[in-house]
Amino acid sequence: APLLNVRGVETYYGNIRALSGVDVEVHRGEIVSLIGANGAGKSTLMMTICGSPQARTGSVVFEGQDITRMPTHEIARLRISQSPEGRRIFPRMTVLENLQMGASLDNLKHFKEDVEKVFALFPRLKERQVQRGGTLSGGEQQMLSIGRALMARPKLLLLDEPSLGLAPLIVKGIFDAIKKLNKQEGLTVFLVEQNAFGALKLSDRAYVLVNGRVTMSGSGKELLANP
Ligand code: ADP
Ligand code: ADP
Repeated sequence: APLLNVRGVETYYGNIRALSGVDVEVHRGEIVSLIGANGAGKSTLMMTICGSPQARTGSVVFEGQDITRMPTHEIARLRISQSPEGRRIFPRMTVLENLQMGASLDNLKHFKEDVEKVFALFPRLKERQVQRGGTLSGGEQQMLSIGRALMARPKLLLLDEPSLGLAPLIVKGIFDAIKKLNKQEGLTVFLVEQNAFGALKLSDRAYVLVNGRVTMSGSGKELLANP
């Protein structure tokens, strides 16, 4: 069974339908992306997956359990890494303190080990570990935001436009790190992106979202070949 199974989801803002009959599956060990232009409904789908109380029909099942019946702290384990406006870092705390905040209580015993993993993945963060989050560059803040999410040892890493506003070379570094984690640790990832080229190269499978509907799906390679 899929780790995440989204079936027939329609989400509304008042009378406006933002998502129509969306089916998305993420299996353990996969990197899956959802590609869409501005306004396609990517954020709405992310919020729906995270259990936002927005009016909807259809089902969102995580590990066999409907997310509307899951306690908030369980949903919080599906961590999201935010776009530049809402990167989930504490600007006045140091890099290390930010990572500490990301570790859930039951994971504190793994703290040292997990911090070393994040530092191995993003050496820039190690160099800047005593600097305040707010003084980091945009790319470093995105790395910190992903590092924080990883500290909670999520079963599924959700990434909301991780490339937004970042230079291509920085994006490549971040995508390479995600790929490495996936290969080495089997981390399952679901991301939404406008940056189709980068996301398709990274992904095992992808969906294309247009005006709230999935219009295409396939392997990253297939979709790269048929734009
Ligand atoms: P994306 O993340 O792909 O840019 P969104 O999920 O933000 O797209 O938006 C999908 C659609 O829903 C758009 O047409 C947008 O205008 C509409 N929408 C988003 N948020 C709201 C809201 N709070 N109220 C009304 N309409 C909204
Ligand atoms: P102060 O209250 O002096 O601004 P704090 O150390 O209490 O400093 O807060 C640090 C900063 O982290 C604040 O600017 C606050 O807005 C921000 N902050 C608090 N919660 C979050 C969060 N969940 N994600 C990102 N930033 C946050």
